[in-house]
Amino acid sequence: MAQPRRVPLPTRDPQQRAGDFQEVATGYDAAMAREEAARCLQCKHRPCVGGCPVGIDIPGFIGKIAQGDDEGAWNILSRDTALPAVCGRVCPQENQCEKYCVRGIKGEPVGIGNLERYAADYFQSGACPVPQQIPWNGRRAAVVGAGPSGLTCAGELARLGWRVTIFEALHEPGGVLTYGIPEFRLPKAIVRREVENLTALGVDVRCNIVIGKTLTVDELFSDGYEAVYIASGAGLPRFMGIPGEGLNGVLSANEYLTRINLMKAYEPGAATPIFKGQHVAVVGGGNVAMDAARSARRMGAQSVTVVYRRGLEEMPARREEVHHAQEEGILFRTLSAPVAILGENGWVKGLQCIQMTLGEPDASGRRRPVEQPGSEFELAIDTLIIAIGTAPNPMLTRTTPGLDTNARGCIRADARGQTTRPYVWAGGDAVTGAATVILAMGAGKEAARAIDRAAQEGAPT
Ligand code: FAD
Ligand code: SF4
Ligand code: SF4
Repeated sequence: MAQPRRVPLPTRDPQQRAGDFQEVATGYDAAMAREEAARCLQCKHRPCVGGCPVGIDIPGFIGKIAQGDDEGAWNILSRDTALPAVCGRVCPQENQCEKYCVRGIKGEPVGIGNLERYAADYFQSGACPVPQQIPWNGRRAAVVGAGPSGLTCAGELARLGWRVTIFEALHEPGGVLTYGIPEFRLPKAIVRREVENLTALGVDVRCNIVIGKTLTVDELFSDGYEAVYIASGAGLPRFMGIPGEGLNGVLSANEYLTRINLMKAYEPGAATPIFKGQHVAVVGGGNVAMDAARSARRMGAQSVTVVYRRGLEEMPARREEVHHAQEEGILFRTLSAPVAILGENGWVKGLQCIQMTLGEPDASGRRRPVEQPGSEFELAIDTLIIAIGTAPNPMLTRTTPGLDTNARGCIRADARGQTTRPYVWAGGDAVTGAATVILAMGAGKEAARAIDRAAQEGAPT
């Protein structure tokens, strides 16, 4: 009889891993993967598939693993996703596919993400053939941004016979997968390999080109592209607007993580300067806050405290990341909100906070944090990292006539990604605001199909 509990994903010792940037989870071996795959009931109504924004045939690929056919598992996976090794590692599975797994009713859901990672890593080991280019259908599309949304859209269009060029502002493709999510959660070699699969399909990735500055969307059309998909993300950090934000030692999580991940500030001799604080506070409760806190620990901080205005239960970060952060010695001051950053000689020396309590649910459905008068307290710190959210950069929308945005600066687009400008589609964080990898990928896939349909019909949708 299959076990109610899933096969745990092996991870490295917390003491050891908190001192380096190597991957935390080591992944299933073949025996573990077969055992976990055997827990899948191969349900006829496939509720798990409905929870996956890119519609992966979950029982199909898991059934192959259970039979010992890892190449077959990879073939099924690669039909629906361009980034399985990424999603197997960073998808919030507990809120997606695994949430609907019937095994979860009387025990733990099947480890779908862990098995996806296993099958994708089998391919990455070089055991399966690289995808082949499809004959050209005579159509060309441009994609702005090489994050998960742009990469997925490009891959789908390439599979439909389009020639696709991705224009990326940074010097490496991957978007947040490359510059945001740290190496210890998502090794960059894995991202590079998944991008190589797309280039094997004929996708042309051009880096160091900022659309809206180096080239405009209008110029892309003049160059002969008949459709443009905008997937420029939401990389502009938000700040708190409290006294002291201009002090030395105050950083956005975006800048901090970019220096560490993209520019490898943790390597000896790295060209990028970075301030290595000894007592660090991180404000926020999402994945970005966890990544910043765990990175600060690995950069040598003696103490790292996450300051979050709601409780541990309400934290939007993935459960696994919170658990790993706790194992690595990160401290949590929940129900606490910063009110001022204290300084000395221009540098941070403390953070003044106030205690919160949870009131009635707000518009997001979560209970609203309410200040408790007279409950102020101070944390002695030398570095403050702010991870309270991001918004899209307005440079692109300002230089693209006809492209409407909403009050949060996000591009307006319908469910298929069609924007207010003909022949221009958009998706991912640029449309939703900061969200998740798999939602960005789902939007890219949907838009690719809409672009292809519109081209067949000879008009935009
Ligand atoms: P992005 O990944 O932001 O990619 C946009 C790309 O467009 C970037 O490469 C950018 O350089 C480029 N670009 C921007 N403007 C231009 C321009 N004008 N011209 C050309 N190129 C441009 N999600 C999860 O599901 N799980 C996680 O564990 C998780 N952890 C996260 C950790 C961090 C630190 C961060 C920041 C985010 C995390 N997320 C996570 C969220 C997730 O990464 C994003 O939702 C996802 O990357 C959005 O994909 P995207 O393709 O829309 O945008
Ligand atoms: Fe689940 Fe994400 Fe994989 Fe879809 S891509 S099956 S949601 S882990
Ligand atoms: Fe397997 Fe769970 Fe999907 Fe059923 S719901 S097919 S048990 S993964």
